[in-house]
Amino acid sequence: MTAPPTAHEFAERVRELLTGPSPLPIVTAGDPVLRAPAHPYDGQLGDDLLTDLVEAMRETMYAAPGVGLAAPQIGVPLALAVLEDTASVAPEIAVARDRHPLPFRVIINPRYEPVGSGRAAFYEGCLSVPGYQAVTERAHRVRLRCVDQHGGEVDEELYGWPARIVAHETDHLAGVLYLDRAELRSLASTGEYLARWSQPDPRAAALGLGFRAGR
Ligand code: ZN
Repeated sequence: MTAPPTAHEFAERVRELLTGPSPLPIVTAGDPVLRAPAHPYDGQLGDDLLTDLVEAMRETMYAAPGVGLAAPQIGVPLALAVLEDTASVAPEIAVARDRHPLPFRVIINPRYEPVGSGRAAFYEGCLSVPGYQAVTERAHRVRLRCVDQHGGEVDEELYGWPARIVAHETDHLAGVLYLDRAELRSLASTGEYLARWSQPDPRAAALGLGFRAGR
């Protein structure tokens, strides 16, 4: 066991990142930072540096483009993430996947738990696992508890695609990648996914690739 980085060390790391390239480079699978639990955020950066980091993460998420980005994905092992989904997809996809807009938000020290027994299995990807998608079954509805960027306590339920985004990003902060939960037989390169399996639900992929398409 090594001691957690000091507040000063976190701040130095973030200042260094913010003086580097923009958008920020995204860390990919294989880097241990994606496999270690992030350190709880307890003010290590101070308000101004936190604001600058959040802004840089937001720009990096937009540029990727993605609908969520956790701090370990830019090499910072702190428990915070940014999320936003405009849900600009075809109506039949939005309906089938319960994908509705998730306005921009910052989640700090988040945890989530399933609400009810509803499950949903759809293709999902990750900016840290570029070039692939896999079907991942998750809770349809989750209870999210966290702190927002201004220190406010959050306790709310989300469902559908926003619940999936919250679960995916919160998992990152525990060192968990979506592939740990995915149906690996569904794994598809983005090219094959777009060519064959981008239907609203993964039933055709389940038949074609030989996996169960959830419950
Ligand atoms: Zn991810």
